[in-house]
Order: sequence, then structure tokens, then C-alpha cells
Amino acid sequence: MLKNAKTKLSVTLIITGLIGILSIGITTIIMLENMLATAGSEADTIRMDIIKIEIILGIIALIYVILSICVGILISKKIMKPAEKLINVAEEVSTQKKQMETMLLHMTDGILAFNMDGKISLTNPAATRLLRIMPEDDTFDKIFGKYNIDVNLEKVIYLENWTSTAQKATIGDNYIYMFFAPLRNEDETPSGVIVVIQDITEHVKLDNMRKEFVADVSHELKTPITSIMGYADTLLEGEYDKETQEKFLNVIATEARRMAKLVTDLLTLSKYDNDEDRTKKVEFDLGELVKKCQEKLQIEIDKKHHNAECFVTANVPSVYADKDGIERVVLNILSNSIKYTPENGTIKMYVGYVYNDAYIKIIDNGLGIPEEDLNRIFERFYRVDKSRTREMGGTGLGLSIAKEILDKNKGSIDIKSEKDKGTEVVIRIPIKK
Ligand code: ADP
Repeated sequence: MLKNAKTKLSVTLIITGLIGILSIGITTIIMLENMLATAGSEADTIRMDIIKIEIILGIIALIYVILSICVGILISKKIMKPAEKLINVAEEVSTQKKQMETMLLHMTDGILAFNMDGKISLTNPAATRLLRIMPEDDTFDKIFGKYNIDVNLEKVIYLENWTSTAQKATIGDNYIYMFFAPLRNEDETPSGVIVVIQDITEHVKLDNMRKEFVADVSHELKTPITSIMGYADTLLEGEYDKETQEKFLNVIATEARRMAKLVTDLLTLSKYDNDEDRTKKVEFDLGELVKKCQEKLQIEIDKKHHNAECFVTANVPSVYADKDGIERVVLNILSNSIKYTPENGTIKMYVGYVYNDAYIKIIDNGLGIPEEDLNRIFERFYRVDKSRTREMGGTGLGLSIAKEILDKNKGSIDIKSEKDKGTEVVIRIPIKK
């Protein structure tokens, strides 16, 4: 566009100039030719003059053309080039602005900018969502005052080393982290405040879970240790008859075994937490696996005089999964049914398949799980009745390990239960295609 203008300018300059020069020249020649018609002895001189004027006209026109070209080049250098640059810069700025706008639109962090009066000058959807900004919340004080956040526009702007430039708050179900920084012009004079808002809900939740887990593990280990130390010290201090000694030693052995089980369970959990694909998968038959688990636990079943039966549907396709892991799950669920069902209970196991899943259903008519505990049952260390389960040797890790194993095998576990009526656990595993 600009190049065109440059040529146009030069051409216009040349044409108008040439028309001017030629019209003056031609008028002079016509005048001289008129004089020639009426002249007598001066005719030769006039003819010579006409030739001279024609030559001079030619030279002037030539010089003019050269000069116009020079002027054209000069104008293009001094005016057009900078203008061209300016347009390029403007185009770049507009592209950058578009990029910034798209970035702000899709950013998960919220961005808010305020001018010196505390009015919003820029915002993005994440900021609106995280701080739940309504159309009427148009100032710094309205937005942050709503949540009693201890922050002040002037302090952010004028106190450079203000300690509270970062703030945390709970808004609805979200934990929010906010960072306040002053905005400055090129000459370093303040022009407002910018706020970056981050959703740290997941982070806080994970952190709390980690803290809880450490506290739980310490607590779970401390109980048996205290008991072992107490009984061992008592034995060391006094002379006891054989029967009492045996009683004390039995407690020590039981508690030590419980600690060992806890540590084994923790190691299993950490194994499943850490490696995604190291579990070796094989093809196997679920019916056979469930029967094998029942055999392994038959002694416990007989001890409590339970009536345990296993029903396997014909032609259940084999599954492709981590066999040891699934065996562990079935043993855990079956032993829960045995543990949490009073003597002479009924335990039924079904193996079958629906669509692409093979399933195992284990039903007991035992103590059941109260409704309020059901959705927490898969949490690590969660036990319905702490003292009761601890007495039975439970660690509260079994179901969380089961869930972890099934997740890794693209399966699922569901529990339905009613207090004092019984429990039904269903495990699904995809069948081998
Ligand atoms: P634990 O090692 O303590 O048995 P689990 O994670 O296997 O831990 O089970 C968690 C809790 O769920 C148990 O402490 C128990 O209170 C409850 N529970 C699990 N299975 C049953 C069941 N079949 N009947 C009643 N309560 C159960």
C-alpha cells in the first residue's frame, strides 16, 4: 500500500511539473512563432531563439525529472519508511494483544488489574469464577472486602516490602492463593495493582491427606508398641508364674504380628502407589481363584461355624489381570465377611459375567456398615468401630488396598450394606477380549 503511494507521489510530481514546464515553453514558442510570421529581417534571430528555447526546455524538463525522482526518494526515506515501520509495529502490537487476550481467557489462574482508584481495569474468566465476582463488584475493596481479606490497595502500591502481598482464603469449597503486586509506568510511577489468583484446593487437600496419613501411621504403630513395651517391662520386673508369663507373651506376640501386618499393608500400598505398570498381568479363571481363596480361609470359616458357599456361573470368560493382586482383594473381602459376621453366619460367593465384565459378589448377613460410614470405607485407616476392628486384627487398610488394585486393573469395587443386616461387595474386572 505504501509502495504504491510512493510511486504515485513521484509520478504525480513528474507529470504536474512537466505539464507546467511544457505549457510555459510551448506558450513562449507560440508567441515567438507569431512574431516570426510578422517579422522581416529578424526572422533568423527569432528562429534561433526558438531552437534555443526548445533546447533549454528539454534540459529543464530533464533536470526536473531527475530532481523529482530525488525528491521522491528523499520523501520515501524520511517519511514513508518511518511510517511503514510504525504500521508494522502497530500490527505486531495488535497480534500480541490478541495473544494476550486468548491467554488470559484460557488461563487457569485468575488475573485482576486495578487502576489507582481501585477500579477493575482488567479481568479474566478464571478470576471471575474463583473470586465469584458479580457485576456490582467493580472495585478492589468490594471484591476483597467481601471475604474479609486483609489487604489494602494503598499498602500494595506504596509499601514495596509489605509482608502480606500474598494471601490465602477459603471461598466456597475452594482454597485460593492470591498474590498482589504494584503496577508501574515506564517512569516508575505507580499505575495500579495486579492480582494473580490460584486455585490451590487440590494441593491443600493432598497436603492434608499426607499429614493425616503420617499421623494415622504413627498412631497405629504407637498403640502396639506401647502395649509390647508395657508387657515386656512387666515381665522383666517381676517373678511371674508360667501361666501369667504365657499370657503376657501372647499379648506381645499378637501385637508384634499386628505391627508386622500393618507394615506389610503399608508396603503394599506404597508399591501400588509407586509403580503403574510393574504388576504382571496374566489370564486366569475367576471361579477357580474364589474357590482357592475360600479354601485358604476355611479354617477361619470353620472356627466361627459359618455356612459359606460358592456359586460359579457356567462359562465365565477368563480375565486378564494382576492375579496376585486380585487374590489379595478377594481374601480381604472374604476375611472381612468372616470377621464381621457373628458365629453361625451365612456367606455366599457368586462368580459370573455381564457384558464385558466378570464379577465376584460376596454377601454376608453380618454386622453391616452404617450408612454414614459407607462412603468413607475406602479411605486409608478408616474403620467403622475402631476398638472393635482393632480387636479383630484389622488395620483399616484392606479396602483402600483393594480399591487401589482394582483401579490398576481397570476394575471396580462397590459395597452395599445395612447395619445389623449384612453386607454385599461386588468386584468387577474386564474380561479378556
Ligand atoms: P480392616 O483391615 O480393618 O478390616 P478394611 O479396609 O478391610 O479394614 O475395612 C474397613 C472397615 O470396613 C472395617 O474396619 C469394618 O469396620 C468395615 N467392614 C468391611 N467389611 C465389612 C463387612 N463385611 N461387614 C461389616 N463391616 C465391614
